[in-house]
Amino acid sequence: MKYKFKAPRGTQDILPNKSEVLQKIERKIFEVAKCFGFLELRVPTFEHTELFMRSVGDSTDIVQKEMFTFEDRGGRSLSLRPEGTAGAVRAVVESGLINEALPLKVCYLLSCFRNERPQAGRLKEFHQFGFELFGASSPVADAEIISLINHLFEELGVLNLKLELNSIGCSNCRGEYINALVDYYSKYKNDLCETCLERLEKNPMRIIDCKNTNCKEISKNAPKILDYLCDECLDHFEAVKGFLTEQGVKFEINPYIVRGLDYYTRTVFEFTSTDLGAQSTVCGGGRYDGLTQIIGGKAVPALGCGIGIERLVLIMEAQKNSMMNFEKQCDIYIGNIGNSSVGLCNLLALKLRKAGLCVYTDLIGRSVKAQMKYADKIGAKYACIIGDLEIEQGKVLVKNMKDGDNFEVLIENFVDKVTLQLEV
Ligand SMILES: [Zn+2]
Ligand SMILES: [Zn+2]
Repeated sequence: MKYKFKAPRGTQDILPNKSEVLQKIERKIFEVAKCFGFLELRVPTFEHTELFMRSVGDSTDIVQKEMFTFEDRGGRSLSLRPEGTAGAVRAVVESGLINEALPLKVCYLLSCFRNERPQAGRLKEFHQFGFELFGASSPVADAEIISLINHLFEELGVLNLKLELNSIGCSNCRGEYINALVDYYSKYKNDLCETCLERLEKNPMRIIDCKNTNCKEISKNAPKILDYLCDECLDHFEAVKGFLTEQGVKFEINPYIVRGLDYYTRTVFEFTSTDLGAQSTVCGGGRYDGLTQIIGGKAVPALGCGIGIERLVLIMEAQKNSMMNFEKQCDIYIGNIGNSSVGLCNLLALKLRKAGLCVYTDLIGRSVKAQMKYADKIGAKYACIIGDLEIEQGKVLVKNMKDGDNFEVLIENFVDKVTLQLEV
């Protein structure tokens, strides 16, 4: 019996043409990150489950319902990372980087795993580009990271994004706000969804995030955190807005952004797009001053954000962004006639490849006609065919595949001449 395998639901293969495009985008992101001083951090795909319970929060949907959790042979519980921040914070605390020169800036590109029902732009394995900044409590750091994202989207040519900004206060001022929320939502106990009734007990702020139509309607008139901020939080928020305005970054205040995770404090923000139908978040983040301590490090203020790569790509596709065009790579196709020229073709190819050109040769013994057809198909910029006659005469005719022009090159000068021609 023959099996036919399919990729598991909620995963996707990135085929070569698409990955070329993705590499371009990813390189651009790393480039911009570096300009702002963010260097790459690489962390394992799975961590101890406890890390996510403590950081993401054990009352969140992510930890309660969506993690891929398994036991190792010693019976310890491990989980595939559902997001990037927890592992990054664990790594900088464990390595001691957080005790060295601050501020510390790291970024990462990684896959995350959530066992959710798959839907458009939402996969069980998805990719996140994250930025984390440690050791700066000043509002200028909040503004810098937001302005970095703003600049990055400009560089990528992503259009029509809206930046929404909020402050969710600190442990001093949030208590009073949460009491006000509990008072408010308690009046609607009969109309809230079941999950929100639980949230009312455990984490009422998360009711604001509920997608249920009834809950959404009720939340429209819920108390706003901005009315409850303490003086320090208010000053901080005002300063962030001031710096952003100074840098020409446009934003809107949305008092109902709370972000889904437990660890946020003060500034939270989202870049959203409506190009995929309903409004969707392409980048979200904020400050998480308490997190290093929660996972056993010293208290270091921190902030960060993550870009959903799949969403970003869908938006760029919808906007017909020119970066999404796949450019064919082959600089020159060096074909052969008969076996006697194969060695020379390969040697010339190797020399050109060493000079950085993309070269294709025949590896399967095709006829000359079939080779030229293939060269055309892969979009070779130039092509030539070398056989006994060319070897005897010491020269080759190189064809410009675009305009059909030919030029003759001595085999001994082949590498130099072709390299020169391709630089034009
Ligand atoms: Zn406060
Ligand atoms: Zn609800």
